Order: sequence, then C-alpha cells, then structure tokens
Amino acid sequence: MNSDVSVVKDAMASTEAAPSNFIRHIVAEDVETGKHQGRVHTRFPPEPNGYLHIGHAKSICLNFGLAAEFGGLCNLRFDDTNPSKEDIEYVESIRDDVRWLGFDWGDREYYASDYFDRLYQFAVQIIKTGKAYVCDLNSDQMRQYRGTLTEPGRNSPFRDRSSDENLDLFERMKAGEFPDGARTLRAKIDMASRNLNLRDPVMYRILHAAHHRTRDRWCIYPTYDFAHGQSDSIEGITHSICTLEFEDHRPLYDWFLDQLGIHHPQQIEFARLNLSHTVLSKRKLLQLVQQNHVSGWDDPRMPTLAGFRRRGYTAEAIRTFCERIGVAKRNSTVDIAMLEHCLREDLNKRAARVMAVLRPIKVVIENYPAGQVEHLEAVNNPEDPSSSTRLVPFSEVVYIEQDDFRVEPPKGFFRLSPGREVRLRYAYIIKCTDVVKDPETGEIRELRCTYDPETKSGSSQSNRKVKATIHWVSAAHAIEAEVRLYDHLFSKEDPDAVADGVDWLTNVNPKSLEVLRNCRVEPILANAQTGELYQFERLGYFCVDSVDSTKRKPVFNRTVTLRDSWANLQKATKRSK
Ligand code: ATP
Ligand code: MG
Repeated sequence: MNSDVSVVKDAMASTEAAPSNFIRHIVAEDVETGKHQGRVHTRFPPEPNGYLHIGHAKSICLNFGLAAEFGGLCNLRFDDTNPSKEDIEYVESIRDDVRWLGFDWGDREYYASDYFDRLYQFAVQIIKTGKAYVCDLNSDQMRQYRGTLTEPGRNSPFRDRSSDENLDLFERMKAGEFPDGARTLRAKIDMASRNLNLRDPVMYRILHAAHHRTRDRWCIYPTYDFAHGQSDSIEGITHSICTLEFEDHRPLYDWFLDQLGIHHPQQIEFARLNLSHTVLSKRKLLQLVQQNHVSGWDDPRMPTLAGFRRRGYTAEAIRTFCERIGVAKRNSTVDIAMLEHCLREDLNKRAARVMAVLRPIKVVIENYPAGQVEHLEAVNNPEDPSSSTRLVPFSEVVYIEQDDFRVEPPKGFFRLSPGREVRLRYAYIIKCTDVVKDPETGEIRELRCTYDPETKSGSSQSNRKVKATIHWVSAAHAIEAEVRLYDHLFSKEDPDAVADGVDWLTNVNPKSLEVLRNCRVEPILANAQTGELYQFERLGYFCVDSVDSTKRKPVFNRTVTLRDSWANLQKATKRSK
C-alpha cells in the first residue's frame, strides 16, 4: 500500500464509529460481487471558480473516505471547462484545503483541460455517426426551440446537416473562424424528450477566452455535461458520486458513454449539505467577497474551509461533522450548532486554558505588598492529564472583566460589587472597598480592593468559600491584544428565504464582527504562534489570527463560545421523551 493511503486512514481514525450510509452499502456490495473487478476508484471534481466550502468537505470526506475504506484510490480532478470564471488562485486554494482536511491524492491530480484533445476526438466520433450537429441558432433562439416542462421542443433547422458539413463546420469553429456564440455543437437526441437535458444539449461552445492552463490554444470549450462523464471514464472511475441535481443529467451522461462505447462509471447521487445561518453557493460567496461584505474568501465568518481554518476550526472537527451528518437522498438543512458542537468536543481536548480579559477594568489591591510578584500555579488543561501546569504572575494591580463587576448587583449576581468578595482564579479572595470614578464623566476608573492572604488557592488554609470565581491578569505583566468576536454571518436561519424583490444580502448580520482592541492576555501568550488554539477561561476558544497577528500586537479570533446550544438541545429532547 502506498504512503498516501495511510494518511487517509489516519484522517479517518477519528470517525470510525460513524453511521453507515447507502453509498457505502452500494460500494461494499460492488466490491463483494466483483463489479468493476472489485476496484474502488472515486474522485473529487471541483470547478476552480471559487474556494471550497463546508459542503465540499462533505463530498471530499465521502470520496476520499470510501477509497480509503475499500483500499481504493481517489483522484483530485479540476473540472476546468469554463475559462472565463476560473483562476489559478482557486486551484491552489483547493489543493491547500483538501490537504488541510487530511487527504492526499498522491500523483493523481488531473484536469478536464488535460482531456481537451480527447474530448474533441470524442465529439468528432459522435459527429461521424450522425449523432451530433453544428447548430447556428443563438442562445435566445435555442431557448425558444427548447420547449418547456409541459411542451415538447422543436427541431433546430440545422439538425439535418450532413456529417461532412458538420465535420467541416466543427473544424472551422475550432480554427477560430466564428465569433463567440455564433455556433454550437449539439447532440442529436430527442427534442420531445420529457427530460430537458436530452433535448439536443450543447456539447461545445465558441469562447475566445484564454484558459488558465491551455492559454490560447482553444477557442471552443466542451460544456460541463460533455466533459464530466467522459473525464470520469478516461480516469477509470468506478463510482462517480455527485449531488442530487445531477440525477436528471445521468441519462445524458449514459447516452454519451454509450455512443462512444467507453468505460462506464456508475453515477450515484446524494443530497448536498445545506447549513443554517449561511449560504453555500459559490456564486453568492463570490458576491460577498467582491462586494466587501467580508474581508476575503478566508474571512473567519465565511463557510469556506479557508475561513474556518483561519477562525480556528480543526480539520478533525470538520471531518467528524461530515461523518455525523451522514449521507442521504433528500435535501435538508443542518443546524450550524451541530458543527459548533463537533468543534467544541475537539477543542475541549486540545486547547490549553489561559486567562484573558477582553474588556478590562483596573483593580488595585491596596494591602498587597508594593513591588511583590508571586508566580501562581495554573492548570493548562484539566481534560488532558499529560498537559502540565504553568506559572501565572500576580501583583498589586490586576485587570478583571468589566462584566464581572456591578456597582449595584442585581439579584443572583455573585461576582464583585462594593463590599463583596470574589475569588480570583488560582489566586486569592479579594473584597471591593471603593470605586474610583472620573469626576467629570462619572465613568469607573478603577476598583480599590483588599485581599485575604489566608486564601491562596491550593494552600492548606484556603478552605474559605465564596460564591464566584473570576479570571484576571496582572497589569504589569499582561500583554495587549486585539480580539475579534464573531457571530453568524447571516441573522436568519435561511438567508435565501426572502420575499420577492428583496435581496438576500439584506440578511447579512450587521453584528457578525466585533473588534476589541484593548484586551489583556496572560504573558505566556507572548510566544503564541499563528493558528494556535486556546481556551480563554470562561470566554470561549480563541486562535491566533494567521493574517493580522504580530508579535507586538497579537490578534485572536474567537473560534466559538463555550455555550453548547446543540448539546443542550439534545439533553432537553431526551428529557422530554
Ligand atoms: P457550481 O455551482 O460552481 O457547480 P458546486 O458547488 O457544484 O458549484 P463544484 O466545484 O462543482 O461546485 O463542486 C465539486 C464537488 O463538490 C461536486 O462533486 C459537488 O457535487 C460537491 N458539492 C458542492 N457543493 C456541495 C454541498 N453543498 N454538499 C455536498 N457536496 C457538494
Ligand atoms: Mg458543480
């Protein structure tokens, strides 16, 4: 077994207890009955016209996962038949993302454009048998001739051209004699078919556009429908797995393969992933980027793999999610809370705990010896016994969270307020003795407190209890940081559900990003590296931003909060049963 297969196996390790699905059953049966000589060969076929999103992750996990499970192979194939929308930037991002997810295609990176010569020959072969013709209708006319779901179409006036004339015209299309849109090559199937895809579909179109790989070599390009099935066939794909909208295209793909008499992959359709509070259409994601609703394809609010990665999502969490949502035949929408739940499960195990204060308020501990610094022991990760402890500096002036103090505490508020006590995590119990306000604005400048030296955490006398424990950092030692808090990119569960004439972009959540520039974090984070993940105690999981973070001013993205609404919902559902 070659090395890339074992990488795939590692990637699958975390998903072993996953539910089975109907595609797995089909493949298992084919292997058992020796169909395709018992081979399993799948592919992931993105069009390089955008970045990959979480829906693509589902397809990647499925295709690479099946190949790994059955000792087969999975190709990465770029379906690059539409030069006007494609770009090398997308090719590179797709490679990075598939690799990041944990999958390896070895040396099997293919491009539909590698097959342009073969596809051209295939087209010539079909013309020669009289089953394809060059048509001079323009796209409007073609639409009129096409008919509707309830009415049959009409034959094109060019349908009965002789093979020789068709060959000559197709050759001249290729030679660049005609302008864009002047002619097409169409399959001669059945203008009365109930399946609109079989009403003489276009196989080739004229497009004088440079292609990111073949440059100016071609001015005619195969349609996706003519390229996709044949590309699968050329690569010897056994199971051609695609989303439901291609079900109606299957008879067309079969027709092409039958005409050509070449290897016949088995197409199996499954329901695409839809996720709440976001959109998963590349066209819409592109619009969000181009119209600056987000900072780019890798904006941490985007449902792209690049966005999730920058936000701090792990590949493991995304793979677990893809496995748990399963594979079905019916379209549905998955609650984004389930993805966040898979993420929390993973981060809880791996993220070191630290203290950070996002909205600081200064606390002066009046009876703490001036100039003294204590280094207090703190646990790095209670979920991971192998993780050690660290020392956190404590001194006379600390910062706590504004939220953890109230001048007039409402009922049920047990944190700090005048005359009351609270425990500083890993340190002492402090009591608020005074509130210093700005004489002009009345704004709170700092809190005056005293500490009880007998209450040091972990010491034998520290058995005095108070109702709340809060986090803090030492003012003299803490590092300044920027923290970016994210919320769903769309305020509605289904951003596409808008009344007629209303733009879906009106559902963009105006509060999806909040930037806090005056945060203070533990000094140990001075060495935090890009992409590292932490749990800021009581606040959530955060990662070092890979784009804007610097050593002088670290920038943290909030990956996800601590409150697991999915787990809570599951518990509530169980209780009510
Ligand atoms: P386009 O509208 O540009 O065709 P697409 O989302 O289909 O967009 P592709 O690059 O063609 O993008 O997709 C590559 C593969 O990923 C295809 O096999 C497609 O079926 C699959 N895929 C795309 N979106 C989803 C999704 N939401 N859920 C599951 N699979 C998806
Ligand atoms: Mg597609």
